[in-house]
Amino acid sequence: MNLTDEQKMIQETAFNIGKQELAPRAADVDRKGSYPRDGLKKLAETGFLGITVPKILGGGGSDSLSFVLATEGIARGCASTGLVFVTNGIVARALVAAGSDEQKSRLLPALTAGHRIAAFAATEPVSGSNPFAIATKAVRDRDDFVINGTKNFITSSEEAEVYLVVLRTDQSKSPADLSAIIIEKGTPGFSFGKKEDTMGLRGSSDGELIFQNCRVPRANLLGAENGYLAVMPRFAGLSMLGAAGIALGIAQSAADAAIEHAKTREVAGQPIGQYQGIQYLLAEMAISIAAARELTYSAARQLDGPPPPPPLPLYMAKLYATEMAIEVANKALQVHGGTGYSRELPLERHCRDARGLTLHFTPSEMLKGMLGKMLMGMPPF
Ligand SMILES: Cc1cc2nc3c(=O)[nH]c(=O)nc-3n(C[C@H](O)[C@H](O)[C@H](O)COP(=O)(O)OP(=O)(O)OC[C@H]3O[C@@H](n4cnc5c(N)ncnc54)[C@H](O)[C@@H]3O)c2cc1C
Repeated sequence: MNLTDEQKMIQETAFNIGKQELAPRAADVDRKGSYPRDGLKKLAETGFLGITVPKILGGGGSDSLSFVLATEGIARGCASTGLVFVTNGIVARALVAAGSDEQKSRLLPALTAGHRIAAFAATEPVSGSNPFAIATKAVRDRDDFVINGTKNFITSSEEAEVYLVVLRTDQSKSPADLSAIIIEKGTPGFSFGKKEDTMGLRGSSDGELIFQNCRVPRANLLGAENGYLAVMPRFAGLSMLGAAGIALGIAQSAADAAIEHAKTREVAGQPIGQYQGIQYLLAEMAISIAAARELTYSAARQLDGPPPPPPLPLYMAKLYATEMAIEVANKALQVHGGTGYSRELPLERHCRDARGLTLHFTPSEMLKGMLGKMLMGMPPF
């Protein structure tokens, strides 16, 4: 697929950061479950944290495909950093799409400079796949909302400073009446609970946010009250693309390692790459990655095309790329034999990291259901 000079430059810069800055730290981030602060600092210095924020608001002004290219290069080095990067990018896009002038000028400069990191909080113990079950509630009290509820599995949990929280207000009359509100770290009544001990993406610091009589000004609403589902399509596409970008990064990293191993590992007097079984695996991996990349890049271009962007390509790209990464990481591990199963090599980490992506950003089963309904001309929800 043809890329502009700017897109090529972003692709190359992200690849270099991934390789030189993030990959050497990735095993440590994974083992200790440590938040990738150093990596984020590097991304901020490069201007990546505000990559899609318009230049007039202090960002890079790049398109959605550039966001994917950056994500891919970052995740090729460290998938946990990729997930934090994508989540921050989603909130920045939401602020650009629906934030008030005051919200934009107060929050975007700090987010794009990396002085503050943003988290997106929709999931609750009682509502993951089904946002209509969201129970966190904001009750109006003059010019404030008083918020009670718990969010879980929130990327960047305690490490973030700005949270875009999806909840319902006391004016909510139907399950679809959801609102989004900005809550900042340090607000009285806002605390942190359990940190998830996750299988993969372990540096992304997924954990609980707890709101107990947490008082937030009404002016912190993003968009209109009960208007979350109206603004959501203006930024949710980036989350699908982000997940696909992380998947591409993991898969490419795993496939590269497999090709190198096939050329150098000798068994019974010849490199294993001479065996047809291994050649088949390499070929299958390359085709799967190329197909996922085409779907993802094409969906990114369509997201920036004439509005409204078609959701079908986004669902397809997210679904296909994230399932693909599990398959490719698994095959790459197989090429490595027993050493691939050892924690000395990153293959087992790639398998664990890839596994989280078919759950987050809308699980595969939901996407398949939505796609199936849309193909029959039915509404996806
Ligand atoms: C690494 C990671 C990071 C995350 N970060 C965030 C974050 O930053 N912010 C945030 O808000 N959330 C985050 N999440 C949560 C994530 O969005 C949820 O896990 C996801 O929405 C699924 O919800 P659930 O876990 O409650 O699963 P459930 O809703 O309990 O679903 C369980 C299973 O049932 C299937 N299922 C459910 N409904 C249907 C249906 N109608 N048809 C067919 N199958 C169905 C699902 O596909 C899934 O396989 C993160 C999750 C992970 C793994």
